[in-house]
Amino acid sequence: MKIINPATGATLAVVAADGHAAVRRKYEAARAAQPAWAALSVKKRLDTIRRFRERVVELKDTLAQTLTNEVGKPIRQSRNELNGLTGRIDFFLSETARTLRDETVFTDGCQKLEERISHEPLGVIANISAWNYPYFVGGNVFVPALAAGNAVLYKPSEFATLTGLHIAEMLHDSGVPEDVFAPVIGDATTGTALLRQPLDGVFFTGSYGTGAKIAASAGRRMIKVQLELGGKDPIYVCDDVDVAATAAAVADGAFYNTGQSCCSVERIYVHEAIHDAFVAAFVAEVKGYKVGDPLDELTYIGAITRAPQLTTLRKQVADARKKGARVLLGGDVIKRRGNWFAPTVLTDVDHTMAVMRDESFGPIIGIQAVADDDAAVALMNDTEYGLTAGVYTHDGKRARKILDRINSGSVYWNCCDRVSPRLPWSGVKHSGMGLTLSTYGIQTFTRPKAWHLRSS
Ligand code: NAD
Repeated sequence: MKIINPATGATLAVVAADGHAAVRRKYEAARAAQPAWAALSVKKRLDTIRRFRERVVELKDTLAQTLTNEVGKPIRQSRNELNGLTGRIDFFLSETARTLRDETVFTDGCQKLEERISHEPLGVIANISAWNYPYFVGGNVFVPALAAGNAVLYKPSEFATLTGLHIAEMLHDSGVPEDVFAPVIGDATTGTALLRQPLDGVFFTGSYGTGAKIAASAGRRMIKVQLELGGKDPIYVCDDVDVAATAAAVADGAFYNTGQSCCSVERIYVHEAIHDAFVAAFVAEVKGYKVGDPLDELTYIGAITRAPQLTTLRKQVADARKKGARVLLGGDVIKRRGNWFAPTVLTDVDHTMAVMRDESFGPIIGIQAVADDDAAVALMNDTEYGLTAGVYTHDGKRARKILDRINSGSVYWNCCDRVSPRLPWSGVKHSGMGLTLSTYGIQTFTRPKAWHLRSS
């Protein structure tokens, strides 16, 4: 399998993909190794995670460079991702033992009865991951899954393979046995082979299309399936905001990671009273973004990781134009080696247009004027997705009233494109099912076992 730098088109490496037989061997080895791993104390398992964290810090510059080279992410944003990963690991280090402790929920001295809950690891799980934040979306799964005593067959995206191999090497160096965390290398074919194994759980991060296939294939197997999928995340800007500051914050939410985040701002609704001022400030902000070499410290917009996405973006712009949208900025690919799309701002958009309905996953955004809060809420909820949504206003009560009516996994007041390890990360509708992060995102890698204990 060739690993291509999306910013230059250059081949970075050639790696061997795992065929069905290799996947089977890894599965069998993981199955054999998991009980001994689960038999270790939580503290011992967390010690390996602590050493992994130290390795991440030691190797940060090298890891950031590899990530930037293989996905085209601006180098500062690669380092930010690694800093974010260590923050999430800190949360798991501090919360896992307490969360997984056995819990006595009832005692009755007369009946000599105790009822207790323990948290058993699921067993051998597949972690099929995306490329856009490989350290985040992978770490949200493999860190708590390992800490809880599972063996993990980790399939990095074919677009983040070198990062996946770094992760495996660092975990092994930190004391996680090779059979307990095994990288499974390849694309959809390898992913399909992995799903054929008799796993105890599937934890997937990726697109709705792939997630739906995985859910269908796992349906008859009665195993835990978690799907963290795409979004079409809206922001509503009320008429009482500081226009320039809000435009800058929301533009960052839309264009950070070159718009290739699951929780990127993908639709903006602006109260009509400030629409024109907001659009002017927004365009001025986006014009200031430096587009170019992802290894340049000043670059803010990098390459498009997957070449086919350029066609999706072009089609969305063409469809919007045809239906009456105005292109205020960008609107097409940038002609240079590699995969590049100009930061694009569209106005006069509406919900007949693909750009306001389908995940764009690139540096392109539509801004629509709305008459009032009710209209904004109706449009925000008019989507097949439901990952995040946010509102900008000075008025906390107004924000609360709006966000109460929003159907999504996360809601934001005066912020966006934000993930916290302390809060559950989940989607509704086509954005997925299940969750990661928070203490629920530790428990999710276990099954609660009920103990009915009567001493004689
Ligand atoms: P993708 O669906 O193309 O691929 C995801 C993973 O699935 C890859 O490892 C891929 O090789 C594998 N895969 C593909 N087909 C498969 C099959 N039939 N069987 C088994 N495995 C298969 O997604 P992507 O392009 O890597 O990621 C982008 C998508 O992920 C976007 O939609 C984005 O919003 C979403 N995402 C969601 C979250 C979240 O937390 N909700 C986080 C990051 C990304």
